[in-house]
Amino acid sequence: MGRIVVLLHTESDDTLSRAALEALTAARSLAADLNSEFSVALVGGLVKQVAGLVAGAGASAIYTVEGPEFHHARYSSDAAALDALCRRAEADLVIAPGTSRWNRVLPGIACRLGGRIDTHVCDIDVEGGAPVVTRWYYRQRMKARIGRTQRPWFIVCDPGSFAALEGAAEESSTESVSTPLAEAAFKTEVVGFQKPAGGGQTIRPDAELLFVAGAGWTKIQPDGNVRVGDAETLILSFLEATRASLGGSKSMVDLSSEGQETLSCMTHLNQIGQTGATPRHPKGLSTCCHGEEPHVVGWRFINERRAVNLDPNCGWAQGKADVLYVGDAFEIISKVNELLAEG
Ligand SMILES: Cc1cc2nc3c(=O)[nH]c(=O)nc-3n(C[C@H](O)[C@H](O)[C@H](O)COP(=O)(O)OP(=O)(O)OC[C@H]3O[C@@H](n4cnc5c(N)ncnc54)[C@H](O)[C@@H]3O)c2cc1C
Repeated sequence: MGRIVVLLHTESDDTLSRAALEALTAARSLAADLNSEFSVALVGGLVKQVAGLVAGAGASAIYTVEGPEFHHARYSSDAAALDALCRRAEADLVIAPGTSRWNRVLPGIACRLGGRIDTHVCDIDVEGGAPVVTRWYYRQRMKARIGRTQRPWFIVCDPGSFAALEGAAEESSTESVSTPLAEAAFKTEVVGFQKPAGGGQTIRPDAELLFVAGAGWTKIQPDGNVRVGDAETLILSFLEATRASLGGSKSMVDLSSEGQETLSCMTHLNQIGQTGATPRHPKGLSTCCHGEEPHVVGWRFINERRAVNLDPNCGWAQGKADVLYVGDAFEIISKVNELLAEG
């Protein structure tokens, strides 16, 4: 069975991300299934203020490494902290959220501690008294269930796969784990964040809604004009009002590399589909996108799907969307933005 430890880091505003709260739910449920306890290890600039929430989740012990040198993601300091925490907690089963910060450092730590790691885990069960994890392969076409005897076993959960922990904070006591950093650990200095050339952050994995823009936004419209400028204004206003995450079809994101006028907020990182991303959001709204299979396969984990298209015979009408609005996306999104502005 073994000791279960959840590894979490705080965000730049000293809170826990949704992915961290999901990892807590996963660990709590695994511990209940194994009739065991779980402890939590926290890393960050200031972690004490989330300790109450972690205690409320039922952690049997809370270990911390905190200080300004652990505020930002940096391989050397994060690796030192995780190494010290895993040893102190005598970790056998490690549950961690698949954040960009942890994804960079956890494989190295698993190797350093002589353990094994499985990433992109979307479910954890117990079979014959031992944990078994589930993950997808080959772009969500094949599912595998994996058990391991090697310990420590690092199980890195894909954000969006578990319910986020909800609960009240409780009184907590924490144990600070000393993590002396060698001079070499400071060779990398985090100086700040840069936004992509297209402007603000448009990919929001935690958003309730995925808004997808297809190539139709850049095509000649019924009035005979191309209206890329209008499209960009409408889409950015919609995103600003709803805090939705922005996705794009392959045709849309390829336009810029083909030298065509396109939305400056759209990059290849936004692409949804077979050769793009497969995000998880409760709802999705597709606009000016035909809904062909190689694109729609990326909607696999979107629960409620709606689409706006001028063409009543587009792919979304072939059973791929719950609701298809047949109409002009420029008019529809403009009206929706008006309603959103009215509150
Ligand atoms: C191996 C392979 C992998 C692929 N991988 C991906 C992938 O990962 N992701 C992906 O997206 N595609 C992928 N594709 C491409 C995919 O098959 C389609 O070509 C692509 O998704 C089409 O993009 P689109 O729907 O935005 O553009 P189009 O097919 O050009 O459709 C534009 C749509 O906009 C509508 N429209 C135009 N103006 C308006 C308006 N004013 N209001 C409402 N609707 C309007 C039109 O009716 C039309 O349906 C892949 C293809 C292959 C062969």
